[in-house]
Amino acid sequence: MKVKVVTRILEANERIATENRRLFKEKGLFVVNLMSGPGAGKTSLLVRTIELLKPHLRVGVIEGDITGTEDAERIQSTGVPVVQINTGGACHLDANMIQEVLPELPLGELDLLFIENVGNLVCPAEFNVGEDMKVMLLSVTEGEDKPLKYPLMFQQSKALVINKIDLLPHLDIDMESLKERARALNRDMEIFEVSCKTSEGLESWTTYLTGLINSTH
Ligand code: MG
Ligand code: ZN
Repeated sequence: MKVKVVTRILEANERIATENRRLFKEKGLFVVNLMSGPGAGKTSLLVRTIELLKPHLRVGVIEGDITGTEDAERIQSTGVPVVQINTGGACHLDANMIQEVLPELPLGELDLLFIENVGNLVCPAEFNVGEDMKVMLLSVTEGEDKPLKYPLMFQQSKALVINKIDLLPHLDIDMESLKERARALNRDMEIFEVSCKTSEGLESWTTYLTGLINSTH
């Protein structure tokens, strides 16, 4: 019985995700669903990315957290429109939560919408929200074994951003093995190595994003 219930939940989610996707298309909006474990630096990556893209693109953010508004306030300080979703315990965002807050954003005036998912390496990958692509963020402090433990995340993500490379001199992580394992799960995955602290690597990430957006519009 449990399997049937889960299937039904995912089917209902998929239906709403399709509605969201239709609306995003209509508004000419490119949507990125950003996923990671807690503390990998999703909000930092968004703040730095917005700083670089803001002169060229109109960006908005939906911020997902179990509770609190700290991350949304950090995004707000960049001057772009942001809406906070508090899931009240749920460990991922679903299409319905996104649909509910869309009227609060000036969708017609945006080119790019980031959805910062709840910090969790498991179920965010199972729930489409209508995005153009999922992006996974991983911190070098998390080690090279994450692809083995959370394969769905890697399979579902079009790009992998590896953050905090400024810490590499202090760590034993095997970066080559991490990238090999990620590519073994997802051959076409684009991989970026960045530091939100020093800005290293951020430009190739934002150039990639801009290229994708321009090619779909
Ligand atoms: Mg955050
Ligand atoms: Zn969940």
